[in-house]
Amino acid sequence: MLTNKHLVILGGDARQIEVIEKLNELDARLSLVGFDQLNRHFNGASKVELEEINPKEVDGIILPVGGAKEDGEVKAIFSDKPVRLIKKWFTETPEYCSVYTGISTPYLDELTSECKREMVKLFERDDVAIYNSIPTVEGTIMMVIQHTDITIHQSKVVVLGLGRTGMSIARAFDALGAIVKVGVRDPAHIARITEMGLKPFYTRDLAKEVRDIDVCINTVPAPILTSEVLSQMPANAFIIDVASLPGGTDFRYAEKRGIKAIITPGLPAMVAPKTAGRIIANVLAELLLQKFEKGENNA
Ligand code: NAP
Repeated sequence: MLTNKHLVILGGDARQIEVIEKLNELDARLSLVGFDQLNRHFNGASKVELEEINPKEVDGIILPVGGAKEDGEVKAIFSDKPVRLIKKWFTETPEYCSVYTGISTPYLDELTSECKREMVKLFERDDVAIYNSIPTVEGTIMMVIQHTDITIHQSKVVVLGLGRTGMSIARAFDALGAIVKVGVRDPAHIARITEMGLKPFYTRDLAKEVRDIDVCINTVPAPILTSEVLSQMPANAFIIDVASLPGGTDFRYAEKRGIKAIITPGLPAMVAPKTAGRIIANVLAELLLQKFEKGENNA
């Protein structure tokens, strides 16, 4: 349990409600900053301003998945006031006070390294990425259905990348009856795709492999669907780029060729905010329990 552990939840969207519920269940003492417009009460949690919290009594800080911008401002959809992680306040927290975020930002990198505080980037963890691949797959299927006029069954689909997301996408489209090819650069991935019963190819041969496809799903966060590759793709193909912004597609050239190409950041939060919130909440709870139940860094 997290009894007497004081955690500050600083801003966030609907996903953070799952986090609040989970940490509340574990008996943590919660200070909610940036939730003044949320029409809901949580026993054991108080809605406050950051300045009202004594930083010396804080055991952990939980930020929204996008972290904090240049001036420390965090996304806070349940408040109409700006919510910030203020450096002066942060430096007063105990040394063992960790910051939990989805991704880092230059501001957070600098702040945590200057103040020598641990920063935990939840979205870099394998478990979070693998769990998140589930709603990402569902969102990808939804987008493909919405943007094409053919069934997924028997459609020719190329998936680029066999990481945590690419593997789940390739497997799901195969299960739906698509004819799936997967493009990778690593020989071990070629072997894995073969073992999965799918057709592998090296991304160096991508231009040749896209000549007759219906759908291309990119998970590679690097320029891969270049003008050279797109020039070989049928104009009626559909590209869904799920890689982090700016994606791996030359969108300008795709438009010029009349290929429909979309980029879809944040699919888990879009299609399943509750599940996306639970994924974060469960992993976070596990990390906090490990940290505090071990007795390590206990105040
Ligand atoms: P990952 O496990 O790191 O997988 C990335 C894959 O891309 C790996 O197979 C990697 O191959 C490959 N790759 C990287 N650079 C490459 C290059 N230059 N050429 C060829 N292949 C390359 O990442 P992930 O968790 O699957 O996530 C993939 C992307 O999707 C990330 O950008 C992530 O932020 C994004 N994402 C978006 C959503 C959404 O809602 N849109 C949801 C989840 C994830 P190697 O193993 O050979 O390096």
